[in-house]
Amino acid sequence: MSESARLLREVFGFDGFRPGQGEIVDAVAAGENVLAIMPTGGGKSLCFQLPALMRAGVTVVISPLIALMRDQVRALREAGVEAGALTSGNTEAETEEVWSALEDGRLKLLYMAPERLASGGTERMLRRVGVSLIAVDEAHCVSQWGHDFRPDYLRIGALRTALDVPLAAFTATADEDTREEIVRKLFDGQPPQSFLRGFDRPNIHLAFTAKNNPRRQILGFAEARRGQSGIVYCGTRAKTETLARALREEGHLACHYHGGMEAEDRRIVEARFQREDGLIVVATVAFGMGIDKPDIRWVAHADLPKSIEAYYQEIGRAGRDGAPAETLTLFGADDIRLRRAQIDEGLAPPERRAADHGRLNALLGLCEALSCRRQTLLGYFGEEAGPCGRCDLCDQPPELFDGTTAVRKALSAILRTGEYFGSGHLIDILLGADTEKIRARGHDKLPTYGVGGEYDKRQWQAVFRQMMGHDLVRPDPERHGALRMTDAARPILRGEAEITLRRDTIQQAERRPAVKM
Ligand code: ADP
Ligand code: ZN
Repeated sequence: MSESARLLREVFGFDGFRPGQGEIVDAVAAGENVLAIMPTGGGKSLCFQLPALMRAGVTVVISPLIALMRDQVRALREAGVEAGALTSGNTEAETEEVWSALEDGRLKLLYMAPERLASGGTERMLRRVGVSLIAVDEAHCVSQWGHDFRPDYLRIGALRTALDVPLAAFTATADEDTREEIVRKLFDGQPPQSFLRGFDRPNIHLAFTAKNNPRRQILGFAEARRGQSGIVYCGTRAKTETLARALREEGHLACHYHGGMEAEDRRIVEARFQREDGLIVVATVAFGMGIDKPDIRWVAHADLPKSIEAYYQEIGRAGRDGAPAETLTLFGADDIRLRRAQIDEGLAPPERRAADHGRLNALLGLCEALSCRRQTLLGYFGEEAGPCGRCDLCDQPPELFDGTTAVRKALSAILRTGEYFGSGHLIDILLGADTEKIRARGHDKLPTYGVGGEYDKRQWQAVFRQMMGHDLVRPDPERHGALRMTDAARPILRGEAEITLRRDTIQQAERRPAVKM
């Protein structure tokens, strides 16, 4: 048996590695610089804890979360590993103990908050005690345009250079820009060995549906899964309450959960969900962090999540036991407008806002995907995969058509009216409607007036939503959501590019009670 397999069993009590762990452990133990991207819960900590035991000297672990550090130190000590933490939460006695273990060369893992690196004494101390490896948890905290930026993470690169030891960085955030930034700032631009594994959760079925009657759509989904434990995520607190009530009226066991509730009431819901079978929790994203229920059979999103990462994390709460689990995500033009507005109206610097729009685009691309959802999702995380056979688009490949003409008509209506109107008025123009607003503005004189007779109002709404999904148009927050054309749309307007749209969502808009759950 290899040394790593022996330690895995004897120290950690596991029979085998999870996907990706073995190769990462080997590379880190061999002293390579490593960047490992693994999903939350994928088992990252083992990938530096185990190599730490295989290397002479102490491994410094930099982590932003004190509670997490303390948990890991406790678990390691229980397993008989000498580990300690230097954090602001320490008692003096704890700090003393860590110091003396370090000085005696007994310590194998030293956990440290990044703020520690700000003091000059830390580097001197680390030079003296013989560091063999630096492990960086939540490495995306080094990204200035990310949501978890921690300025002190910028000191890690210099520490690596000063100590001249290998560095292993771990994160669950996988977008290309963040990865690049990690390499630049932690590895001085020298590409480390990169690993990206374990994002697939094959037992989870993926499905998205355009929103037309969200309450009925969610009730229908829950009805088909009566008696199973599930979570419904909503965008607002108020909605969690009304949807939970609607579910109860249909005879389901359901309660709501959001951050505005008393801590005690939240605890009661958490405890019930953990204990009972068949309870549905209708919640905001506040629900889930501490939930460790293996047999959640389904997760539904009544509103579009914030990003692909958020989506992945939220659906990932289903089916932890490995048995089949179902998901459904509803999305509509309102969601897109709301998410764009949240970004534009936020206080983030412009670069970060641009990055957030990019992240939202990736999610919208998944909503409007033309083929296998899982392939699209894993592709975002950098994993290659074939069609999965476990998503709505594999179950029923969508009918596609060349939407170039329809999109050009819509773009032309937008441009000829000065990018000043929302989809409602634009659709009226395309349909040649006789409204007060149209007459008052003289829009019945436009060449685009009445050119859109091939679709009805709801079908045009589906076209506009797909255009937003492909980021061809964006609502302008300074003009009450008036649609503006993006650069991505220019080649289509100029006749240099074509665009494929999904016919099914457009036809669905026609058959009113269309959604089969
Ligand atoms: P994260 O990647 O989110 O940091 P952790 O390192 O906390 O995840 O691991 C998540 C869970 O998986 C922990 O409960 C851990 O004990 C467990 N785990 C990690 N590796 C293995 C393994 N090889 N076999 C079984 N369980 C594992
Ligand atoms: Zn698929």
